Amino acid sequence: MRIGVLGAGQLGRMLALSGYPLAKDFVFYDMSGSPSAGLGEVIIDREGRLINDFLARVDRITYEFEHLPVDVAERMAQEKPVHPCPRALQVCQNREAEKSLFGELGIPTPEWALADSPETLRQAAEQLGCPVIAKSVTEGYDGKGQAVLKAPEEAADAWASIGHPKVIVEKFVNFRREVSIIAVRAEDGDLAFYPMAENIHHNGILRYSVAPAPELSDDVTDAAEKYIRMLLNELDYVGVLTLELFETDQGLVANEMAPRVHNSGHWTIEGAHTSQFENHIRAVSGHPLGSSAPRGLSCMINIIGAHGDTDRILELPYAHLHLYNKGERPERKLGHVTVLADSYEELVWRVRNTAQFLPGAPEFFSTLSR
Ligand code: AMP
Repeated sequence: MRIGVLGAGQLGRMLALSGYPLAKDFVFYDMSGSPSAGLGEVIIDREGRLINDFLARVDRITYEFEHLPVDVAERMAQEKPVHPCPRALQVCQNREAEKSLFGELGIPTPEWALADSPETLRQAAEQLGCPVIAKSVTEGYDGKGQAVLKAPEEAADAWASIGHPKVIVEKFVNFRREVSIIAVRAEDGDLAFYPMAENIHHNGILRYSVAPAPELSDDVTDAAEKYIRMLLNELDYVGVLTLELFETDQGLVANEMAPRVHNSGHWTIEGAHTSQFENHIRAVSGHPLGSSAPRGLSCMINIIGAHGDTDRILELPYAHLHLYNKGERPERKLGHVTVLADSYEELVWRVRNTAQFLPGAPEFFSTLSR
């Protein structure tokens, strides 16, 4: 079976690496002009002229990147199965559509409003009560296209820094920590949930994910599974879906979702019985799902901007190194390391020991450090 992947970055690379043992072949469709998957066949098509060539080469289609035109995915879906469905792509591309769907399904979100000018941004900040966070409705990722307003008077500067015709304004959530849940739905509707991860960001970029997240109550896990199940079923979704949440004293609040495998699930390659990548390939290929149960405790450390001393990391018996074959550039995701352990105490020690070889890795602080 040949799987067509829309997008050609490191997520596509890891999808292919997990699909080869199941005898899948991969064709990547790249509209950015800078593919980095580094394996499989790559079709670079900045103007959308090679869609028919791509369609002729693949049996099923999925994506590893959600910022591509929905009409391209819809056109492809007329010819070949596209999983997840283009509607999922459409919802995840647009923060207004996403927050509206959360609301319709009863999934808690921060209070929000829309603004299309500096003046309406100021009004929204006043109405919601500062601090608020304003985000471009489309095209934002890794904290880009966002501004925090501590007072409504900051609206004009915030508007100029975002530079987008429409923003969503959210009340700033006073969260205890950021968590995510990853789940996968098969063609026959079967579901599997990974244990939730605790995610530590710096400057909007994920740096560490600990899974299973420590100190997680059953109520919180049940709520997260209920929310993602509702989304999967509502969208008649096939494949891996990720839901990012804030954990607060009042429970979970949804931030955003991604219609794909996710950075906060890279730990599953070594840390779960079936990785998120393999389960995604299984789902989109029409196969049964594999177990999402963890194998002990994991922490994923992102390698950002510079590679560091990877040979020293390779010497550590508990660390698993993944390099994406990309050139160094500030803030660029170049690889990750998954550290495994049998206790959280051991995990913290091993993560700190590994991070010392990654220049620029912020010190590891999490619920475990409290
Ligand atoms: P996003 O691109 O929506 O995932 O936002 C990037 C980061 O900004 C998140 O990981 C949070 O750390 C922070 N953030 C986003 N929305 C809010 C909010 N409503 N309240 C507090 N922090 C937020």
